[in-house]
Amino acid sequence: MPVFEELVGSWNVVPRDTGGPGGWILCAKAAATAGEVLLCERALVVSSADASSENKVLFAELAELERRRALGGSVALGVHAAACCALRSLGSEAVRGAVLCQCQHAASDLPEAAAVYKQLLKSGLLPQVGSFSAAEYAKLLSVVQLNSFHFEPLEVPGAASEEQGPGKAMFQVCRLMNHSCAPNVDFQIRWGEEGVATLRLAAQRDVAAGEELNISYLSSAPGEALGEARSVRRKRLREVWGFDCACERCLAEAGEPENGSSRASTPSLSGLEW
Ligand SMILES: [Zn+2]
Repeated sequence: MPVFEELVGSWNVVPRDTGGPGGWILCAKAAATAGEVLLCERALVVSSADASSENKVLFAELAELERRRALGGSVALGVHAAACCALRSLGSEAVRGAVLCQCQHAASDLPEAAAVYKQLLKSGLLPQVGSFSAAEYAKLLSVVQLNSFHFEPLEVPGAASEEQGPGKAMFQVCRLMNHSCAPNVDFQIRWGEEGVATLRLAAQRDVAAGEELNISYLSSAPGEALGEARSVRRKRLREVWGFDCACERCLAEAGEPENGSSRASTPSLSGLEW
């Protein structure tokens, strides 16, 4: 587990270990008013074709593998790109320490992912991670899929969108946040020089001291899943993140709790975290 105190600094957030299946969560240190910025955090890893010329080559190679249908059907190009970027920028030892060791989720069975990894090694795109196993790579893909923040090409100022490709960013503190269909915080990813990304977390409404901070994993854009009916939202959350949402909004819209479930006993992102 990283030293959260160093990462959090004087910002208005505090990571808490629930000690239960929910794992680590993020809470407000002190009361906050709507609009208050609670945390700015630099990304641990960013995958983007525009981040560097090396990344451009990596994306081109992945696109070629995808064209040859070597990526398998269940994992997106952006997830592979983020996993490769993590290995390239952090190295295999740091990935084991900072990423894989914190993943309580069993590695997915992804033989296709292992095949891609071997091809990337063979092509020399990942020269420094020869001791990293294909099984670890498959697990890394699960970690990326469950914990990274997706960004759209247009969010990168000046990026040529057709070259930008899909992007993922991973954050050590913000990854702790669970989902709610009625989130109390929202985030923006901002871009600095040379592909450095910073996530800015702001209160969407007044938040009490100690209150758990929840973002929405579902997009709030018009016509997107967050605005949909309960069954649509829950289906999407189950398919992509593997849990049954039992947030206050889902419980309220169900009339009464299903099977006596409660927030605390619900599988959450933290339960599946890195
Ligand atoms: Zn919900």
